[in-house]
Amino acid sequence: MISNYFFKLSEEIEYKCQWYGCELVVVDRFFSSKKTCSNCDLVQDMPLNLRTYDCQSCGLSYR
Ligand SMILES: [Zn+2]
Repeated sequence: MISNYFFKLSEEIEYKCQWYGCELVVVDRFFSSKKTCSNCDLVQDMPLNLRTYDCQSCGLSYR
């Protein structure tokens, strides 16, 4: 299902391009240490040595 994964990824980038611009999305995804909570959209620092995301706002925790 590798091809499926890449299809979904490209689809997501294409979607976000309409709002933020492609370059910003790519840079954010691969080089930034910030993560956006999938539940409440809070953006917070995500240290590279920390594998689990703990949201300070809604308490969501995921890898
Ligand atoms: Zn959250």
